[in-house]
Amino acid sequence: MSLSDPAHAAERLLTWQEAIALALQSIQSIAEIESVPLLSAEGRVLADDLPARLDVPPGDNSAMDGFAVHWSDLSPDAVTRLPVIGQALAGHRYTRPVPRGAAVRITTGALLPEGPDTVIMQEHCRTDPEETWLEIEPRITDRLRLGENIRRRGEDVQAGTRLLAHGCRLRPQEIALAAGQGIAYLNVVRQPRVAVVSTGDELYEPGSELPSGAIYESNRYLLIGLLRRLGCAVTDLGILRDDREALLATLRRAAAGHDVLLTSGGVSIGTADLVKEVIAELGQIAFWRLAVKPGKPVTFGRIADCLVLGLPGNPVSVMVSFLRFARPLLLKLMGAEPVEPMRWRVVADFAFRRKPGRREWLRAQVRLDAEQRPLAVLYHTQSSGALSSLSWADGLVELPEDCAGVALGDTVDYLPFSALGVE
Ligand code: AMP
Ligand code: MG
Repeated sequence: MSLSDPAHAAERLLTWQEAIALALQSIQSIAEIESVPLLSAEGRVLADDLPARLDVPPGDNSAMDGFAVHWSDLSPDAVTRLPVIGQALAGHRYTRPVPRGAAVRITTGALLPEGPDTVIMQEHCRTDPEETWLEIEPRITDRLRLGENIRRRGEDVQAGTRLLAHGCRLRPQEIALAAGQGIAYLNVVRQPRVAVVSTGDELYEPGSELPSGAIYESNRYLLIGLLRRLGCAVTDLGILRDDREALLATLRRAAAGHDVLLTSGGVSIGTADLVKEVIAELGQIAFWRLAVKPGKPVTFGRIADCLVLGLPGNPVSVMVSFLRFARPLLLKLMGAEPVEPMRWRVVADFAFRRKPGRREWLRAQVRLDAEQRPLAVLYHTQSSGALSSLSWADGLVELPEDCAGVALGDTVDYLPFSALGVE
């Protein structure tokens, strides 16, 4: 079975799952690695496993501001009174051993001096103003366990273990984890170079004067933002007219300098839909037309080494096909795991008529009912041209191919935009 065989396409559309699997199979992750300083590493994909070099914390230390004591000095049935013989501050250790029957003032993060085995919160102690002695009530010592309020050496991270795995997309917390190891640079996968172009004779740049019958271009603004959030290096190729020669020249040139070419518009079957033809002329189309809604005309192919994703022109189709189709492919290219987003099972606060056959995404919000149960609500129009639906929604209801309609109160799958990298 050849995927470019038009007879095949006419027979049965590829399902979303088949399309993703086929496309993922054909994608090799970028092999080039670069070293970037921590503050430039956010959103990048770690290229190698990163072992921990240090124990964190580096030694037993206090989790609280308080007093380091010997647990065996604490009396369970009378007030315990101890002299305070010194202080251990974060960054300034108390270097002498602390004998039984004595306490040391200690601050959060200070290394535990030799001797004491327990820290008592300062709120649980009474002291004189100069802190030369402290007293603890039996009701406090009664509840205090040996070793309380002490963070053990290596309790957070142990030297020699794997700190971070390759393929991990670096969030602020992973970057902080590396910083805690004294690591200043991280090896990350080179960012994919993605070129974005919009096509259509009716499209004009925001800020320009609009001739009658024309519309302002919005898809590039959507796609470039989504790509940047994902961690791609984007080239904006602007708007192209529905002109074969212009398309040929621009796509040929762009394919030579990019890993991915993302187009919008011109992939359906109208007379001005030249993008598909031009991709086929310059390279190969692996498939086009999927059993999805919106986004049916999505086209996937290659021009030499450059992946080409031809998205339909309607703005909703653009965002949905980016999030559900382009995104996992880009993640694989970036060297990250293209994991399925987390989904919620929610109750439909709507009824929706449809025929089975295509996977469908509806623009939705989730609200809590009186019992705090999540309810999915739909935008008033599900037209694939209605950009306002994307701004209103906080996620997508996903209906599987075999779904024959939704009745009020049915349970549906909901994908929050946040799980798709858009907050
Ligand atoms: P097409 O896929 O080229 O047939 O376009 C489908 C619909 O999307 C048409 O109504 C176009 O005007 C509209 N459209 C195409 N590209 C854009 C764009 N970049 N910005 C806004 N609307 C667009
Ligand atoms: Mg068009």
